[in-house]
Amino acid sequence: MNRHTATARAIEEAVRWRERRPASAPRPRPDKIFAADVFGQQAMHERLPKAVYKSLIRTIERREQLDMEVADAVATAMKDWAIENGATTFTHWFLPLTGSTAEKHESLIDLDGPGKVILQLSGSNLVQGEPDASSFPSGGLRATFEARGYTAWDPTSPAFILRGDHSAILCIPTAFVSWTGEALDKKTPLLRSIDALNEQAMRVLRFFGADEGVSRVLTTLGSEQEYFLLDRNTFFARPDLVSCGRTLFGARPPKGQQLADHYFGSIPQRVLAFMDDVEYELLRLGVPVKTRHNEVAPGQYEIAPIFEETNVACDHQMVLMETLARVAPRYGFRALLHEKPFLGINGSGKHNNWAMCTDTGTNLLDPRDETHTNMQFLVFLCAVIRAVDVHADLLRASVSSAGNDHRLGANEAPPAIMSVFLGDMLTDIIDQLESGTASRTIQGGAIDLGASTLPRIPRHSGDRNRTSPFAFTGNKFEFRAVGSTASVAWPNTIINTIVAESLDQMATDLEKAAGPKPTPAKLQTAVKKILRQVIKAHKRVIFNGDNYTDAWAEEAEKRGLPNLRSSVDAIPVLRSKKAADLFKKYKVLSKPELDSRVSIFSETYAKQVLIEADEMAVIGRTMILPAAMTHQGNIAEAVAATEGAGVDCESARAELEDYVELVNQFRASLDALVEASDFDHDLEAHPHAAATELRNEVIPRMEEVRMLADELEGRVANELWPLPTYREMLTIR
Ligand code: ADP
Ligand code: MG
Repeated sequence: MNRHTATARAIEEAVRWRERRPASAPRPRPDKIFAADVFGQQAMHERLPKAVYKSLIRTIERREQLDMEVADAVATAMKDWAIENGATTFTHWFLPLTGSTAEKHESLIDLDGPGKVILQLSGSNLVQGEPDASSFPSGGLRATFEARGYTAWDPTSPAFILRGDHSAILCIPTAFVSWTGEALDKKTPLLRSIDALNEQAMRVLRFFGADEGVSRVLTTLGSEQEYFLLDRNTFFARPDLVSCGRTLFGARPPKGQQLADHYFGSIPQRVLAFMDDVEYELLRLGVPVKTRHNEVAPGQYEIAPIFEETNVACDHQMVLMETLARVAPRYGFRALLHEKPFLGINGSGKHNNWAMCTDTGTNLLDPRDETHTNMQFLVFLCAVIRAVDVHADLLRASVSSAGNDHRLGANEAPPAIMSVFLGDMLTDIIDQLESGTASRTIQGGAIDLGASTLPRIPRHSGDRNRTSPFAFTGNKFEFRAVGSTASVAWPNTIINTIVAESLDQMATDLEKAAGPKPTPAKLQTAVKKILRQVIKAHKRVIFNGDNYTDAWAEEAEKRGLPNLRSSVDAIPVLRSKKAADLFKKYKVLSKPELDSRVSIFSETYAKQVLIEADEMAVIGRTMILPAAMTHQGNIAEAVAATEGAGVDCESARAELEDYVELVNQFRASLDALVEASDFDHDLEAHPHAAATELRNEVIPRMEEVRMLADELEGRVANELWPLPTYREMLTIR
């Protein structure tokens, strides 16, 4: 499909949607459909024998080891439920190291004697699978000839039915491990990190005598997802979008996001219909979607759920991304999840809202009213501050990818410098604690709007800061550096682990300082002493100002905070002894498991950049250059014809000369790119060397090619330009 057909079809599609009458049948009420496709606690309660149900709940809620005897009963009930809901196929659903989800379908049918088909799911089918799946990246953890890989049921994340247009598949969330027991996925380390944090947080609660009735501490996660919607017709006319998920070319349109008139604007009808459908599907899957709005860039949107326990929230996040992609074509759209699909306008991120909570429902990051007296909160808060300072580099590494490098530090997302925003009220308390005793909590008061009909509204005790990578937002931390395509499992594994270490350290110090059976006074003194120490040592990581300024980059350098601008610099942090010791100590990742991840990150980075470089060369040579040459021929002919007619056309000749020079530069830049990307690193054996060379030698060549091509776009006759333009892609909806 050429550009003109693509655009014409896109416009037709948009008009068709605008003229469509509203759908007649209203959707069922959310409370009637919520989790209808989930084999959750309610379905289990209804269908399982009491003893089996109780045993399973103990596993889910108390994290007790699964009793294998219950597996058969659960499997049978799950199968019956799935069949009643239209599924005849099941899959162990897992999160391989590619960062996406994986499934290998198996029918529920079995043969029960010749010609006799039955439907069944045994306990062992439920608990363990052996999908082989040996072609997934393992970073050297397994060779393809040693192919055994197992999936193991995660009973803490409920099974669900994934519905396609003509399919219904029972998905059983699982962990994916090798024959040697090493984690080959993103879920296993996440679950281990949750256990690690639980153990240390319980020590702190016990120290304060606040552990009564609490059997564990969990982390909660709500992640806001940004994405772009594009008409499918224009998507398929852009080879760069098809193979890289982002545009490698494209001049800035005259009207982009300057007027901020898309942001929070009224949602176009076709987009709204899409969102409604997405939300309906997600609610059925038990994903508690809550908010939606237009984001800053034209064509950009956001969806956010209500927070949940982290493991389930991570699985739900994957389901959410898949649902966006699956539903979009029904409305003639393509959902783009890439971090930077379009140069010059905002990219997409994922805000990772994180907190710690007891299983009895107390948010441990809730400051309450008289915060300065809430010593327990201050210990948890300072543990997070300490963690971000001690492991700022790891936190940065947790969000590294070729795609996210386009965002971090580009004045639309936080910089690559990790710092903590606390706001006025908490900063004031931290300052008081540092110099002695905290005796006041700044109150927000009320805002008088000055119009007699408007209510007085309460003011928070601190403002927000949208530029901070790790911001305290009232009763949780918001980690804003996560990329829009990323699985949130890995960043949360890192956050849980580094906070577990801080809690461990602080619990040990507190226990030492207070001694056994401390009196309340002794306990207070011990807490104040430890808080003061932690604040003194780690307050450099607190920054409440504008993170987008150069002044902050300079200041951060003075404070000694790391600024790892590129993923190529950030990924090797995971190879450090400090990182290896940390993951080993808290049993989150063994050294080989960690090393394998580092290799995969570098390898993926290198492969992505190489694909982009190759695609750029192909588009440049086979689409842009031919169009540019045709245009050159046209001007040259016009100049020759004009001069032949005896008319002076000096300015047109000058323009031709100038244009030919630009085309020549473009051709030369393409040659330079092809030469630079033709190098002989063995990507799999030496991924970091390859990634480094690509970052240093290839990416600058790509930038050069792009700059010249975008200039050509502004010169070549509109009818000749082969790619849908930014204006066409971003405004047709
Ligand atoms: P915004 O950041 O866009 O202003 P909010 O801060 O209200 O929006 O909420 C963003 C996300 O934070 C939502 O997904 C919400 O459920 C989640 N959230 C709220 N409280 C917590 C918590 N205690 N733990 C984790 N996530 C939370
Ligand atoms: Mg937010």
